[in-house]
Amino acid sequence: AKESGRSGYQFYTEQMHIDAQQLVELEQDLRSALKNNEFKLVYQPQVELETMQITGVEALLRWHHPQKGLIPPDKFIPVAESSGLIVAIGAWVINQACGQLRYWHDLGFEQLSMAINLSARQFFQKDLFATIAQAIAAHGIEAGKVEFEITESMMMRNIEEIVDRLHHIKTLGVQLSIDDFGTGYSSLSYLKRFPLNKIKIDRSFVRGLPDDSDDGAIVEAIIAIAHSLGFTVIAEGVETAEQLSLLATKRCGEFQGYYFSKPCSVQALSALLLEHLPK
Ligand code: C2E
Ligand code: CA
Ligand code: CA
Ligand code: CA
Repeated sequence: AKESGRSGYQFYTEQMHIDAQQLVELEQDLRSALKNNEFKLVYQPQVELETMQITGVEALLRWHHPQKGLIPPDKFIPVAESSGLIVAIGAWVINQACGQLRYWHDLGFEQLSMAINLSARQFFQKDLFATIAQAIAAHGIEAGKVEFEITESMMMRNIEEIVDRLHHIKTLGVQLSIDDFGTGYSSLSYLKRFPLNKIKIDRSFVRGLPDDSDDGAIVEAIIAIAHSLGFTVIAEGVETAEQLSLLATKRCGEFQGYYFSKPCSVQALSALLLEHLPK
């Protein structure tokens, strides 16, 4: 037992060492990624259920590592967050996404909105307001067509501070939505105090539709709460026609997911817009 215990321990420390090493490497590479132009945004359509028209897109970050290839955001964003690099990367995302929105508006898709993800560190950073204001001014876009997604788990700190920050950002005229809704533990009384426009139902609840009756009940409840508070609702992770028709019966306004389109390049999205958005 002692033997195996010790080898177990050694194995554990070796793992830890490798993981720590990889983390250090990842962080080092992230430091140079911005100036080496290794980031790119892809865009996933947000679609109105009733009309099947694209109302907006969500900007999603991609990192093309020169040696390791494509690294998914779930892997590098936590590292960017813990190292503080997310502030500079996030500012790049905001500026890039606003520039892209201007391009699509100029093509005639003037109703299109752009959803941008914010991380916790970014949200609580002092310069965020100025970063957003500058990007909107620099690209000359309508602020109301820019939407920021914050996750429910970010909203669990000091409520007064969060409410203040949200109101401050809202003075710019932008929209705010709450992402991954249902996975955190935000109290409904807090939700009422947040100046939100939209709730995004987390894809973990959409996955089980239409067969899982618990997921069905949760989705229905979230939609009812959202509507009673005056928020619009979007379901994420919609992959099948069956999921979509169930969401339609529950009066979900919009959806996002592979069923309609995966996140795509500017070129591919422009083609989709031509088909699904009247000029
Ligand atoms: P998220 O904000 O919840 O984004 C939705 C994720 O679900 C995206 O993964 C998207 O590609 C994926 N997805 C969309 N439709 C479907 C579907 O039908 N089925 C399935 N299985 N997945 C679907 P992605 O692009 O890998 O991003 C993962 C997460 O990384 C995002 O989750 C977000 O939390 C974070 N992220 C991405 N870009 C940014 C960014 O610019 N800034 C920050 N702070 N976080 C970002
Ligand atoms: Ca999101
Ligand atoms: Ca989400
Ligand atoms: Ca998510």
